Amino acid sequence: MQKNTARPKDTDVNKNAQKPRSAGKAYARSGQGQRRTASGQRARSGQTRTAARRRTHRPAGVQGILLKLSDLTSTREGIIKLCIGFAALIALIVIIGLIATRGGQRDVSREPVQAASSVVQADGLPTETETEADAAATAVEGVAAPQPTAASASSGFSMTPTGDAWRAGKYAPEPQGEDYLPVFRSAGRDDKVVAITVDDCFQTANLKEIIQLAENTGGHLTIFPIGNLLKRQELQEVIKAAHASGHEIENHTWSHDGLYNLSDEEMAKHVFDQDRAVDLVLGVNYHTHFLRPRGGDDRNDLRTHSYIRQLGYYGIAHWSVSGAMDIDKLKKSLTPGAVYLFHCTDLDLQKLREFIPYASNQGYQLITFNEMFGYEDNAEELLTDDPTTRTIIQLEPYERDYKTIKATTYDYAAYEVQAALIAKGFLTGEPDGVYGPGTAKSAAAWQTAEGYTADGVLTPEQQKKLLGVE
Ligand SMILES: [Zn+2]
Repeated sequence: MQKNTARPKDTDVNKNAQKPRSAGKAYARSGQGQRRTASGQRARSGQTRTAARRRTHRPAGVQGILLKLSDLTSTREGIIKLCIGFAALIALIVIIGLIATRGGQRDVSREPVQAASSVVQADGLPTETETEADAAATAVEGVAAPQPTAASASSGFSMTPTGDAWRAGKYAPEPQGEDYLPVFRSAGRDDKVVAITVDDCFQTANLKEIIQLAENTGGHLTIFPIGNLLKRQELQEVIKAAHASGHEIENHTWSHDGLYNLSDEEMAKHVFDQDRAVDLVLGVNYHTHFLRPRGGDDRNDLRTHSYIRQLGYYGIAHWSVSGAMDIDKLKKSLTPGAVYLFHCTDLDLQKLREFIPYASNQGYQLITFNEMFGYEDNAEELLTDDPTTRTIIQLEPYERDYKTIKATTYDYAAYEVQAALIAKGFLTGEPDGVYGPGTAKSAAAWQTAEGYTADGVLTPEQQKKLLGVE
């Protein structure tokens, strides 16, 4: 694990640092221009300011050097002195450069994967195993699929915001608070039904076979394709056929990015763009009900819940059994109402070749996510617009629900805390939304400076102070 030591307060940085935006109020509506920028841009603009500041110091130094230069070049001794001076200057620049590079390495953004997965495990839930290696293969040319474009306010299309439509589900779980949507993991059912969900869809041929395996038992799957994979002609055909055969299609975001380090607009667009890619493939206006963020991230994050509610979603589609376990354990896990998470990998296909017939022989029926939780199928209407030109609905800003942040937290609140710590000079690098040991350490340094107990655990009150809210 990398060391992310807090560096001492840099008053220069501090003075010029951008004040972190207040969390609750600063969420720009899509129509209000670029008040909020993409995650990296904010941190980069900080660096630009520092560079600009360095440049403004330079003319005085240059003038001084020029004055000396005219003195020195008049004698031979002077020229030698000048050469020595130059060599010293270059050595100094190299040393400063090395220090700066090292400082940059001790940053906040080097721990996302481990920290993220450890959170999921600490939660007592299986970790989704993704085939990230395949992500490189996604840049495949295909027929027109919508490209993410800048969000803009539009009075045209709306995704039929449904508010509390999730309540209609007979087996829908209760959400964790009134502003939240439910997180669907398993259904409390007595009948022998399970839902098999298949994520990502990198390996189209495997997906096709998994669909066939389900159909051989008279069952149906719920498929969560990554939006930008739907550019692939062969995947389009498989998804279209699956839909026609009664399988359910849901949302796994546009590009499989972690939603916890995206700005509000970006996050909403990653959901919206996958949805319209599905519409384009199916040729209907298809109302997906469930979002499954990458790896189950953000499932308890109010910001995500707030936006997907506005986008018409019923909740987060989690799972109760990860297909990552071995086949014997999978067989033992068979219980009424279980939700299985699989991918289209060769390994998962191999397991499903055994597991699906086994489940069927045990009297289990494979049903869709909607069926599992007692909902109607996803509504669909004739397309009355061109999904490629569709723009996102105007989103209401959300009021942040402050929760204690501690090491292993990863969400957008952690992202904002990191941005504030960086702005105040307690942390270096770019925020990534993962509150790892390095961030906790720098938060402890900030706590010391503010007279709090330096435990690295930020209470809601401390976060508000750090963010300059209220
Ligand atoms: Zn995935």
